[in-house]
This record gives sequence, C-alpha cells and structure tokens, in this order.
Amino acid sequence: MAGTALRDEASELLRELIRLDTVNPPGNETRAADLLRDYLEEAGLECETYAKVPARANLVARLPGGDGRRLLLLGHTDTVLADPDEWSVDPWSGEVRDGAIWGRGALDMKSQVAANAVAIATLAREGFRPSGDLIFAATADEEVGTSDFGLSWLCREHPEAVRAEFCVNEGGGDRMIVGGRPVYLCAVAEKMSSPFVLRVRGRSGHASMPGIADNALARAARLLVRLAEHEPEPRLLPETEAFFSTVFGHVPGPDELGSELRALEPALAGMVEPMLALTISPTMVEASRKRNVIPAVCDVTCDCRLLPGQTQAEAEATIRACLGEDEYELHWIEGVGGTRSSPHTPLWEALERAIGREEPGAAVVPVILPGFTDSHYLREVFGTVAYGFFPMRTMTAELAARLVHSADERIPVDDVELGTRFLTRLVRDLLG
Ligand SMILES: [Zn+2]
Repeated sequence: MAGTALRDEASELLRELIRLDTVNPPGNETRAADLLRDYLEEAGLECETYAKVPARANLVARLPGGDGRRLLLLGHTDTVLADPDEWSVDPWSGEVRDGAIWGRGALDMKSQVAANAVAIATLAREGFRPSGDLIFAATADEEVGTSDFGLSWLCREHPEAVRAEFCVNEGGGDRMIVGGRPVYLCAVAEKMSSPFVLRVRGRSGHASMPGIADNALARAARLLVRLAEHEPEPRLLPETEAFFSTVFGHVPGPDELGSELRALEPALAGMVEPMLALTISPTMVEASRKRNVIPAVCDVTCDCRLLPGQTQAEAEATIRACLGEDEYELHWIEGVGGTRSSPHTPLWEALERAIGREEPGAAVVPVILPGFTDSHYLREVFGTVAYGFFPMRTMTAELAARLVHSADERIPVDDVELGTRFLTRLVRDLLG
C-alpha cells in the first residue's frame, strides 16, 4: 500500500475509534470491538470476540502462519475520562486540527490500536504468509484493570487466543536527542507496584491534656521524615547498563552516576532515575477522626515501586534500616508487575532494523517503566517477550507525556503514519 493510503486508512480508523466513548468505567469496549471486527473481516481476517459480560468485549484477529514463533500486536480500547470543559475540542470528536487528530485516547492508546489493525489488514490483503501466527488483540479494561474483564481474564479463560512468543504493546517509543543522536526508548521491563502501610501505635487521650496520652500521629511524623530523606542505593540492572552503554558508550561507575545523569537532558534524566532504585512516596495518612481526641493508631500509606527482580522481603530490610528503632508495623498491600523481557531477542533486532529504515542512525535503548502495563500478564503466564513500543517522531516526548490522561490529547497524523508503517515493516521482517 502506498504511504498516503496507509496514512489515510489509519487516520480514519483512529478518528472512528475516538468517536466511540469507551471511558472506563464503565468501558463499553464492545463498541470498539464491533468497529474493529467489521474493519478486519473486510480485509479477510478471522476474528473472534471474547466477552465476560456483553458490554466489555475483547477482540482477537489472526493471520494464520506456519509453526514459527507468534507475534501479538496488543492494545487496549478503553480510555480514562475526559472533562469537556477543559478541552479546546469535543473529546469524542476525532477532529483534525493543525495536522493532528484530537480526542480522548489519541495517544493512550487508540492510535496504536488503529495502527495495529491497519498493519494486519494491509498484510492480509497483500496475501502475506507469516512464518508464525500474526495476532491482533484489542482488549478491554486496562485503565482500571481490577475488575478482570480484559487481558487478565483472556489469559486465564482463553489462553490459546493470545498465547504468543513475542508481543508489541504500549509503554514506549518516545524519541529524544542525546548527544546529537536520535534515541528511541523501548520499554522492556516494569517496576513492581508494591504499596505498604506503616501502622504506628500510641495511646489515646483527650487532646486538651497531651501529657496523659501518647500521640501516634506525632510518632508517625518522625518515621515520615526518615522515609522522605531516604536515598536508596542505586543499582545497575542489565537493562540500565544497556541503556547507558548505548547512550554514553560506557557504563558509569557508582561515583560517576550522578554527574552522568545531570549531563542528560532533563526529560531523559527524569526517566532514568526511577530505573536505578526502589522509590517510596508516602501519600496518605489516617489518624484520629476527632479534633479533640489524640489518636492511638496512625496509618501511613506509601506508594512504593520495586525494581524488577527485587523482592518485598529485600525492600522491607531496606525500609526497616531507614526507619530505625521506633516501633511500627509494616503491612504490604499488594505486589503487581515487576516483570521484564530480555533485550537480546529476534524481536529486538527486528525492531532496531525497522527503526533504522525509518530514521537511519537512530538508536533504540531499553528502559524500565516506573509503572506497569498489561504486558506483565503475558510475561507471567506465557513467558512472552513483550516490549512497549510505538514510535513518535513529530510530537516531542515531553508534550506527549503532558497530554496522556489530560486535556487536549492529540497525535500528529505524521506519527500515526509512522507508527503504522513501522509496525508493517516490523512484522514483515520478524515473520517474513
Ligand atoms: Zn494505556
């Protein structure tokens, strides 16, 4: 297909997807599944809908191949909410303005869903025969994710629908210039969301006579200060080493790390810092419910993110060392994510070649996401090599980061075309 046809087809599909309100909750992702099904069946693809409840369907399409390794192009069709009062356009208009397509989901991630669909449809119409199955999945319920309608449910109830050796999902593709050279970030690993509660006990009493009580809130304050001042020891993982050796040509020692980070452009430094250590951010405090009662118990909830491979037991030792001798209880709330895929795979090499065709001289570097995506289900259940990657060149990484989940979300049409062409090239290379 010629460049402009690919561009027009992906743009039009994206605009139609944006016009379907799939704000989660409640989701209503079946609207998107139906649209995509009609589009993909017209290209001759086999489609199957999987739905735990009728309104929240997941769609899987397949271009059958030989018995080689399978590639899954994954995307979620739900979005976060949008407040029309904050927007310059109707968030569900899909309006084209200043060379960009505007609307909720334009970046996260109906653009990549549209590009995935146009890539597989184009290959199907061409009669492309992949060496292993090429699979397209548009899944529900990523943004809330706790109600188990989307990929978690598919992996458990219909594993054969989405089982694949390789996957390309959301989470990366940002482009930056480092030392004069363009660099694309590819998310190969994710930190583990591992929040905990510190429970501090004292003795209640009337607030007018503080001397007779033992104020749990005041005790907790001492712990909070220590947590806030804590600087965890940086740790270089293989992913971070690969990042530094591509960006700087060498891996800095612990002493040089700070100065090397300062030499990076601020956006990239902000991205790298969470890759070096666990982070702890106290975010919620609960103590007395009455102004005149000194609390006997104070709960401090902390957002905490562990490096891939780091355990809660190991993190707990670090936290306890930081907090010292004061008495408290530490309760882990959960541990989600924290998975990784090797950057030394045929998928990585094909991705590098496809980017090299788009922009000669550009490098691809692995990064560890501070948050997590649906990729963790695939890595955990099937051992899939899953990368977060959708290249963006016209829109800067800073602007894209500011617009995701925010007002006036939009994507340049040039980037929709770039992403679609890139995916088509990637599939031809990997499964050709
Ligand atoms: Zn997303």
